[in-house]
Amino acid sequence: YEAKQRNDSVSVYAPEADHNSAARLGLLGDLRRALERPDRPELGELGVFYQPQVAIDSGEVVGVEALLRWRHPEHGMVGPEEVIRAAEHTAVMRLLTYRVLDEVVARVAQWQRDGLRLRAAVNVSVRDLHTADLVDHLAALLDKHDVAPSQIELEITEGALMADPRRVLATLRRLDRLGIALSLDDFGTGYSSMLHLRRLPLSEVKIDRSFVLGMGSDPDDAAIVRSIIELAGALGMRVVAEGVEDERTWRRLSSLGCQVAQGWFYARPMPAAELTSWLARYRPPRVRQPADAADPA
Ligand code: C2E
Ligand code: MG
Ligand code: MG
Ligand code: MG
Repeated sequence: YEAKQRNDSVSVYAPEADHNSAARLGLLGDLRRALERPDRPELGELGVFYQPQVAIDSGEVVGVEALLRWRHPEHGMVGPEEVIRAAEHTAVMRLLTYRVLDEVVARVAQWQRDGLRLRAAVNVSVRDLHTADLVDHLAALLDKHDVAPSQIELEITEGALMADPRRVLATLRRLDRLGIALSLDDFGTGYSSMLHLRRLPLSEVKIDRSFVLGMGSDPDDAAIVRSIIELAGALGMRVVAEGVEDERTWRRLSSLGCQVAQGWFYARPMPAAELTSWLARYRPPRVRQPADAADPA
């Protein structure tokens, strides 16, 4: 980056360096065009993948997280974090969130018709919570597709609360009154977490995957995971661990009393069509009881 600052003729691709970088503006224009296309969402460049969330003890699939995917015609898959970074400070963010919500609510309605009761969690960004019509838009969508609010959950991050806490709190309260469950994502990476847990109408915390990925090798990460599970339990909140990649992590989370897990150990995020066949094949992994080993029979 230093080279870039001192000499403009040295070109370094560094999208983090500047909100208005050429690369980002390029992406933003492409994104705007992709959003304008009237394609059915599942056929267009912009799509949503779904990753199962599983109750650790029963092995039951309790829901899915919806994750944005953009297949750019020239650059291939562009990661959601990069898409959000490009869009977040612009009016495009709202269109993107609505595109995801439209797709997810319609999908949940389709699952209902197929006899599948799956709750879907949708990520919303800081800016979405400052948008006055988010709640009305969501309420109208639920109404249109005849989906109960309890089938949709919104995941927010603590960053959302920093910019305009009063306005965000007002939006969260309206969502709560509507019956939408709210989850605090990436927990442990933001600011003043304890206060947020107490003041906001949250029903769930998600332990950030960096701690879960590290808990097998780093005692500090393990201590953080254990504390979050205890804290959430004491406050009567559901706790979800994301980034569960292997059996050992899954077993440890089970013994720590974590309720729900999400990660490659179960399944990677996948298109809706694949999810249906995954669900048909799925057999819950069994938590080995200590008695199994002792049982002489
Ligand atoms: P997130 O909400 O924390 O989502 C979890 C991320 O962890 C996803 O990355 C998922 O693919 C990844 N993941 C799941 N299981 C594992 C695992 O076992 N190991 C590892 N290493 N990773 C795992 P993804 O799909 O790249 O999304 C990244 C972030 O982008 C999300 O983090 C979320 O903050 C944001 N995002 C995704 N979709 C949307 C969206 O529709 N709207 C908004 N505003 N943000 C979104
Ligand atoms: Mg999330
Ligand atoms: Mg997360
Ligand atoms: Mg995240």
